[in-house]
Amino acid sequence: MPDEEDDIFSDEREDIEKPMSRLLGKYARRYPKPVCIALAANMVSPLLGLAPAWLLALAIDGLFTESTPYRLPLVPVEMLPETTPGKMLLTVGLFVSVYLLTTILTWLGSWGWAVFAENVQHDLRTDVYDKMQGLGMEFYSDRQTGELMSVLSSDVNRLEGFLNGWLGQLLNILVQVVGISAIMLGTNWQLALVALLPAPLLTLVSYFFVKKVRPMYREARGTFGDLASRLENNLSGIQVVKSFTNEPFESTRVEGASQKHMDARWGARRWGIRFGPLLTLINGLGFALVFLVGGWWVLFGPPLEMFSGTVTVGTVVMFLQYTRQIQGPMTQAGQLLNNFERVKASAERVFVLFDYPVSIPEDPDANELTDVDGTVEFDDVSFSYPDGEEALTDVSFTVDAGETVGLVGPTGSGKSTLMKLLLRFYDVSEGEVAVDGIDVRDVTLRSLRASIGYVSQEPFLFTGTIRENIAYGLNVTDDEIQSATERANAHGFITDLEDGYDTEVGQRGDRLSGGQRQRIAIARVLLRDPEILILDEATSHVDNETEVLIQQSLNELTADRTTFSIAHRLSTVREADRILVLEDGEIVERGPHEELLSTNGLYANLWRVQVGELGSLPETFLEEAAARDRA
Ligand code: ADP
Ligand code: MG
Repeated sequence: MPDEEDDIFSDEREDIEKPMSRLLGKYARRYPKPVCIALAANMVSPLLGLAPAWLLALAIDGLFTESTPYRLPLVPVEMLPETTPGKMLLTVGLFVSVYLLTTILTWLGSWGWAVFAENVQHDLRTDVYDKMQGLGMEFYSDRQTGELMSVLSSDVNRLEGFLNGWLGQLLNILVQVVGISAIMLGTNWQLALVALLPAPLLTLVSYFFVKKVRPMYREARGTFGDLASRLENNLSGIQVVKSFTNEPFESTRVEGASQKHMDARWGARRWGIRFGPLLTLINGLGFALVFLVGGWWVLFGPPLEMFSGTVTVGTVVMFLQYTRQIQGPMTQAGQLLNNFERVKASAERVFVLFDYPVSIPEDPDANELTDVDGTVEFDDVSFSYPDGEEALTDVSFTVDAGETVGLVGPTGSGKSTLMKLLLRFYDVSEGEVAVDGIDVRDVTLRSLRASIGYVSQEPFLFTGTIRENIAYGLNVTDDEIQSATERANAHGFITDLEDGYDTEVGQRGDRLSGGQRQRIAIARVLLRDPEILILDEATSHVDNETEVLIQQSLNELTADRTTFSIAHRLSTVREADRILVLEDGEIVERGPHEELLSTNGLYANLWRVQVGELGSLPETFLEEAAARDRA
């Protein structure tokens, strides 16, 4: 399990530049219409929001106290009503129009951002998944499924939340702040300076706040990944947990991971909680200041030497209104910045994936591998796993089309690795792997893998019915499925099940036995009729009787296609045309069964142990095995 330091994305994230502008650049242009409508609405509606306070001042000064004449900007005096009731009604009409328009604009803004955000979320999720799916196997071997799931779910969701109006809110705030400042400065610049005094303070507070919480949110993200992996692991391994009655142990581990996550979140939230009230306090003091200076001015004239002129009641009321009105956007700005930091971390994680190098690149000029005969050639192949020691050394062999090759050797000797190179899950470090004489790096991955059927040691079934698992994406008839299951000796047990082919296999096939899963996996491969077949300990999970059954059918099946059969039970490879014996990544013996027996080497020893001719392996072999284990 990763510890708290081990956020797998942390070092890689450094290179991600401007993830937010990249995100918007990549996706915003796909949906120009809703984005433009929403932006326009977010631009106009805060301007309308400035109107009520201004109208109130107009009503107080031009209507109630009549200290200044009733005037509207840009409207000629002749067009204004002359009577007081007329002016009153006009003012009411203006108020109503402003609110009506604001309603429509708010609706447009929400609609535009929602359409945009939902679409981008969908695109992003599918793009990230497609990218992940295309990454090499080494990517998966050093990553936790929970970690990857959290990118696909919580990071993508968080970006949706951001896209849903973040830009609009920012624009809204900017327009409001600029608009309010402009009106106040235009009305009475001296009083405006007093009213705007707290603004820089707010910016300062926000700035230091963001600086403080940025690393805290990073940490919280990392601990969430660990927690998610822990949960995912435990729930999928629930059978092991229960059989070892390790519930208390696991509870403690989950609690530990959750506690770490909570501590990290609390560290960041504590600051968020302090931030809001501090802003309110600053704004409250600003409000009192405007009331003091403005009120004094109305009652006793300019309160300070440097102030001059008169101030009306309407102006003071308008300024007080605006001072309160600007508090919202300012507080929001802080929250938006806060949010931005969290979202940025998510965007970085998404772009780490997008930028992740594809380790098995496809040559742009790659040809389709067609009409495969099934010759396989390994020419001086050496291979090391990324940051691992050498798993294969100078392996050379040629397999003719239709030949059956047995691969045997102790655990860890490189049998599976050999097959992964043939499937091009990894590329060789040295040498060449060729199918039909063509280097596997020169053909498309799709055509290469389509010509190879692979039944692994741990067959994976997807949640769904047996039929769906066998067809697995192919559009095939029931007859075709049945013919495959008959050849895999699976038809019998399937029809014995209550729901037959429509039986739900459960998560990862856990409602079936290992042998049943294995046979379904074999049928799935047979349905595709590949020219090359790889059976990687394909019969390791079945009992002896079933193995004999499968073996019989496999013998027919393998007759006309190139087959690699990895077996720990040597009886299964006895009939192979040729056997390659691997030890420590090297081919140490090769030849048919009888010949290998007569050479009295590793194979002969393994064989005698299995058929019981030898009570145990020779001393030297056991010592070697023990040494390998220690290494
Ligand atoms: P076999 O199938 O013969 O039991 P493998 O081919 O699976 O052996 O493994 C050969 C060697 O490569 C072993 O030492 C094993 O530890 C190592 N190995 C296998 N898979 C990986 C991997 N994904 N990353 C790093 N090393 C690996
Ligand atoms: Mg293996």
